[in-house]
Amino acid sequence: MSDWDVIVVGAGAMGSAATFHLARRGVRVLALEQFDLAHDQGSSHGYTRIMRHAYYNAPGYVPLVQRAQTLWRELEEISGETLFVHTGGVSLGRPDALVVRGALLAAERFGLDHEVLDAAGVHQRFPAIHLSDDMIGVHDPAAGFLLPERAILAHAAAARSHGAEVRTREAITGWQATSDGVEVHTERHVYRAERLVLTAGAWMGELLADLKLPLEVTRQVVGWFEPDDPALCEPHRLPVWLLQPPGDEEYFYGLPRYGPPGLKLGRMFHLQPAVTPAELRRTTDDPDEALLRTCLAPYFPGANGRALELMTCMFTSTPDGHFIMDAHPRHPNVTLVSACSGHGFKFASVVGEIAAELALDGQSQHDIEMFRLGRFENGATR
Ligand SMILES: Cc1cc2nc3c(=O)[nH]c(=O)nc-3n(C[C@H](O)[C@H](O)[C@H](O)COP(=O)(O)OP(=O)(O)OC[C@H]3O[C@@H](n4cnc5c(N)ncnc54)[C@H](O)[C@@H]3O)c2cc1C
Repeated sequence: MSDWDVIVVGAGAMGSAATFHLARRGVRVLALEQFDLAHDQGSSHGYTRIMRHAYYNAPGYVPLVQRAQTLWRELEEISGETLFVHTGGVSLGRPDALVVRGALLAAERFGLDHEVLDAAGVHQRFPAIHLSDDMIGVHDPAAGFLLPERAILAHAAAARSHGAEVRTREAITGWQATSDGVEVHTERHVYRAERLVLTAGAWMGELLADLKLPLEVTRQVVGWFEPDDPALCEPHRLPVWLLQPPGDEEYFYGLPRYGPPGLKLGRMFHLQPAVTPAELRRTTDDPDEALLRTCLAPYFPGANGRALELMTCMFTSTPDGHFIMDAHPRHPNVTLVSACSGHGFKFASVVGEIAAELALDGQSQHDIEMFRLGRFENGATR
């Protein structure tokens, strides 16, 4: 008999959620994490993560966001903690900008509450934001932000309360399929389980080297900047936002003051080549700061003050920007989850549910066709 029904590798955002949903279904589950819970070496640190509903990336995400929101609320009840702060959100750019068009499309297709504001209307409602006259905003009143470190701790605690074992500071050095399950090797033990769920974030490529998954890990930098008038950047005055400057293919994203006392922002994607987690340079420098100020100076001139904190983090991206949630192509008892591409955190609660369904039922109640591995054989790109 195996030691465990399911082993989860990596107890970050997705792994802690998967462990909770598996444990809640009554199976014997062991989660193995190489660092501490809610550490700052992966993709899930930095105090806040945007949760938006009018999902520009593809309308197919909207039902998942809605389920995720329900599950976050449930986790707040279970843990007694605030995990979501409601602020509303706004997607800013010219009417033809991807983040604006896409947000409108998703809102219209799913009948989501939303409002289109011109540049003056955006400034009137959110005085910290200054747009050029050719830009507009799509307001998404259901949006807000999640508290990622607390959410990971809450999922892990809830999993433990259902009998899960969560072992930290124990790195997986390898795994293999056996005739009746899997064997997972760490520096201390060899564990046996019937099923395996791999939620290793930026380390997925290394754990699945033979599959040559098209995952690219990049260094990202976010910063917190001191505003002249802090009141304008408080969560009740400034929503979470995406801003695509005219003529720019990419966009900036940001959040109101929470944690460090400044406006937080980052860029999709920060200008960095692909790395491995071990190669990642975790220090920040003047060019990192200068890039973020190219958004602050014109659009948030009152928040272009002293840099209070700069932090690195990793994106693990697929060519089309959508997640991977599927069975291993040769081992149906091994579930692969890579839900990042820079926008995965908000889904962690529902990704945990999906991972548990894939591991235990071989299928999910949710529509996850766009996350299947097979799409890469057809050359899926962004
Ligand atoms: C700067 C930045 C801003 C972002 N902003 C947003 C946002 O606003 N909204 C949003 O929804 N998403 C956002 N994202 C994306 C989101 O944070 C990620 O999608 C999410 O954190 C990925 O979670 P994960 O579980 O895949 O990775 P992680 O949380 O990093 O977890 C992977 C875990 O696996 C462990 N692990 C790996 N290998 C091993 C091993 N061999 N043995 C044991 N353990 C192992 C790691 O230590 C780690 O804890 C952002 C990401 C970044 C970097």
